Amino acid sequence: MGPHLNLIGLDLEELTSALAALGFEKYRAAQIWSQIYCLGARDFMDMTTLSKPAREKLAQHFSIARPGVSAHQKSEDGTQKWLVRMDDGNEVECVHIPEEDRGALCVSSQVGCAMMCKFCHTGTQKLVRNLTASEIVGQIMLARDVLHEWPGKAEGEEPKKHGKPGRNEDDPPVRSLSNIVMMGMGEPLNNYDNVAKALRIAMDEAGIGIGKRRITLSTSGVVPMIKRCGEELGVNLAISLHAVTDELRDVLVPVNRKYPIKELLQACRDYPAASNTRRITFEYVMLKGVNDSLADAKQLVKLLRGIHAKINLIPYNPWPGSPFECSDWEAIQAFGDFVNAAGYASPVRMPRGRDIMAACGQLKSASVRER
Ligand code: SAH
Ligand code: SF4
Repeated sequence: MGPHLNLIGLDLEELTSALAALGFEKYRAAQIWSQIYCLGARDFMDMTTLSKPAREKLAQHFSIARPGVSAHQKSEDGTQKWLVRMDDGNEVECVHIPEEDRGALCVSSQVGCAMMCKFCHTGTQKLVRNLTASEIVGQIMLARDVLHEWPGKAEGEEPKKHGKPGRNEDDPPVRSLSNIVMMGMGEPLNNYDNVAKALRIAMDEAGIGIGKRRITLSTSGVVPMIKRCGEELGVNLAISLHAVTDELRDVLVPVNRKYPIKELLQACRDYPAASNTRRITFEYVMLKGVNDSLADAKQLVKLLRGIHAKINLIPYNPWPGSPFECSDWEAIQAFGDFVNAAGYASPVRMPRGRDIMAACGQLKSASVRER
């Protein structure tokens, strides 16, 4: 164990043994876990349930540092985007999308992406590396810092009137980061172990406490991992479908050549967390003249028969040099109406944060974008 091991991203067992190595008793781990993930402590010195020498010892050996922030933008519509900088200088984006009484954080799982989907800005950037669990949880931590969304109460402790780290008396109620969507940069199922570890930490009720029903993982269709995700994590599933024939999907979402539509939809039928109340979301980006005809809508309905599904129509968000155009509004509406009449909810996902390039598929590290 080197100096300044970052405790963020360790599971409770790992935290316990890291602490034990310094002579801390076992019960301290839960206490420190709670300080980190309930209170959002950013400094060991704030952990006042511990003696001063104990705090000093922690600070000598560990850190609770969040990733860096290279840039922070706020859109006209309230969407915020952070360009998150890892210790090695690599960058990913993280986006907070507020809604009336809730809000989602769109979290990245990889630097770049290997899947090369044709319409995706991230896909034009090669995979650089997987994010660690610490870097994935770190995105949630830094968003909660900025949003002042730490409940301000650690296990076994009354909320303090003064000096709650990160939280003031007049802050809004804790709710603007109520959901997590693994829809940032990268294919989360290509980095399953780290994503799973990070999500387990986020779901822990004695900590961040965002439950599996409020977490959605989006995948381009890494079929073998879908099953594991369902069994082990039970989070909501979103599938980037985007095409209703293998011929077209092979081109738009190249992983389809390995796992064609039929296998993908079987994995959805088998997905344990899917039910009437917990439907699978199918994301469908509307590309003018490519996948947006009524015949496509008809085929879509046919394909999804028997699956508890919701279809998210995503107006295509263009990026510099991209080969596609967004479908006309009438085409999107006609497509949506057809799917809707067949019994599937088909909301059009209104682009958020377009003015700061934070909308779906626009994410790309600025360092790469500038080249
Ligand atoms: N890699 C995962 C999750 C991140 S992408 C996945 O592909 O599912 C989040 C959603 O945005 C995906 O459905 C993706 O296909 C879609 N998307 C990508 N580029 C887009 C663009 N330019 N316009 C609109 N949606 C896009
Ligand atoms: Fe990767 Fe998703 Fe973009 Fe495809 S759409 S290239 S899987 S980030």
